[in-house]
Amino acid sequence: MRLLSLFFTASFVLLMPNLSRAQKGKPSTYLLRPAAVFDGQTLHPGWAVLIEGDRIKAVGPAAQLTAPAGAQTLELPGQTLLPGLIEGHSHLLLHPYNETSWNDQVLLESQALRVARATVHARRTLEAGFTTARDLGSEGAGYADVGLKQAIDQGLIPGPRLLIATLALVATGSYGPKLSTDVHVPQGAQEADGPEGVIRAVREQIGKGADVIKVYADYRWGLGGTAAPTFSQEELNLIVTTAAAAGRPVVAHASTPEGMRRATLAGVQTIEHGDNGTPEVFKLMKQRGVVLCPTVAAGDAILQYRGWRKGQDPEPERIRQKKTSLQAARKAGVAIAIGGDVGVFSHGDNARELELLVREYGFSPQEVLRGVTSGNAQLFGLTDRGSIKSGLLADLVAVQGDPTQDVTALRQVRLVMKGGAVYLRN
Ligand SMILES: [Zn+2]
Repeated sequence: MRLLSLFFTASFVLLMPNLSRAQKGKPSTYLLRPAAVFDGQTLHPGWAVLIEGDRIKAVGPAAQLTAPAGAQTLELPGQTLLPGLIEGHSHLLLHPYNETSWNDQVLLESQALRVARATVHARRTLEAGFTTARDLGSEGAGYADVGLKQAIDQGLIPGPRLLIATLALVATGSYGPKLSTDVHVPQGAQEADGPEGVIRAVREQIGKGADVIKVYADYRWGLGGTAAPTFSQEELNLIVTTAAAAGRPVVAHASTPEGMRRATLAGVQTIEHGDNGTPEVFKLMKQRGVVLCPTVAAGDAILQYRGWRKGQDPEPERIRQKKTSLQAARKAGVAIAIGGDVGVFSHGDNARELELLVREYGFSPQEVLRGVTSGNAQLFGLTDRGSIKSGLLADLVAVQGDPTQDVTALRQVRLVMKGGAVYLRN
């Protein structure tokens, strides 16, 4: 029995790269027959999906869909088929801080090492069912995310479709790593200041391939290490208008009320983290249509790295505060994007954000599933994906069981399809 299972494990591992190589780049016609289809909004038991080339051709009750000649039928018994999941906040060029601190990753790890790791992270993300990821900053790895995205798009390595931020923008002195005051060390993002400086930096990043501009509207800087606003209102306004002129949205890291307020007034698309948001600032976000990506899994992970024994020790103040502020955001009607700040914790473990939102933050499974599919697609302006609808990209994931009842079913990935090509079949 033991030998047998070992054999199956080994053959599975050997088979997968061949499967993806063989089928990648030449999608064909598939009829997918799961137990149910979650189309991005609701669950439809007994539905099936027809794929032609890289697109969804038809979706509906299985009895009404027939496989055309030459189509492959994939039976997915007991499984739910969903739109490919969309990660709202990742850093493929980072790995968990309990393995190597952020400072050491930025300062001691070579670009080659970081890129080699990132290729593995990209595969794990895809195999977890996340067919798209918003990757919000290379964190000192320069423009490596541009090449990573190209390698995925050219079919050289498996990975999600990426929206990349490249270097990200910080005000001088506000970011890290910081060593002695006597030495200048490479920073985890690009420093830019003043009207000319920020305009130039935004244009440089777009020129190199940034799909979105990431800006740190506040950060823990100075000797005390307390979070404080960084860029002025004028600088933030210019960052947003310069990016908008080229059709790029801006996303802002912000956790202080003032940083969030300035970013909101400037017109960013999303605010990342937002830990100390107040009812007033959330009201403003709602009025201006600014989205919150709360990244609850990141803080949860970091506190555990620092020694919080979750489940035994009392809940840290930072977690209590996070629960209060996220509740205030929801009460104000702020749109919520789903993203975990993956990289702080393991790539491929992306479902952790959804599980936490359901288990500890009062979201329903249906809410987070809508959020991570059609919700994120709509909030990020991705009109070609996020739902299972005729004409959209054939980015799909099948999981065992019913994630609308139990969100941990997302861990049981059985099929991953991207652009009509099968990347994983368990
Ligand atoms: Zn991040």
